Amino acid sequence: MTCDRLVCANCAGPVNEGRCAVCRAHRERLHREAPLAHLSPAALIALLAALIAVALVAQRVATA
Ligand SMILES: [Zn+2]
Repeated sequence: MTCDRLVCANCAGPVNEGRCAVCRAHRERLHREAPLAHLSPAALIALLAALIAVALVAQRVATA
């Protein structure tokens, strides 16, 4: 899910650090394909709470 443990074939450094152009290109591609994977757990929880709040409000409006 994340690119934390990937090692670059070009510079042998962690792709996450973006040491060379290959690292940066790979990292950019991963971010484009899975932007949610790079959100922090706290951000995901906040997003989930916001969605639940919206759903509750929508339900209340629909039943009222
Ligand atoms: Zn590299």
